Amino acid sequence: MTAIVYFTNCDSHVSNVDITEKLMATDHCHLKRHLHMIRVIDDPECGWCMEDEETASHILTDCPAIARVRERHFGSCVLNPEDVKSIHPRKICAFAREVGIHG
Ligand SMILES: [Zn+2]
Repeated sequence: MTAIVYFTNCDSHVSNVDITEKLMATDHCHLKRHLHMIRVIDDPECGWCMEDEETASHILTDCPAIARVRERHFGSCVLNPEDVKSIHPRKICAFAREVGIHG
């Protein structure tokens, strides 16, 4: 099951641990690092900041280009993976929708 599937199933009862594990461990969603790994694109660089690989953990925790969006949704510009585990999946979905990675 991909992160995008998790994003599209926001109304189902998915635990914070489940969604965090999928997002942070697999990165199986339509982000560039994954598309690069499956050879859909050549460049895994983050399309928002162009400073790091575009992964779910980068987008959720420390991409500087979307720091204000992250602050508005989660109350902090920078998160660590442990912070993400405590965020309700619906909040993560709302964030993903705003930054354009919601499936
Ligand atoms: Zn970035």
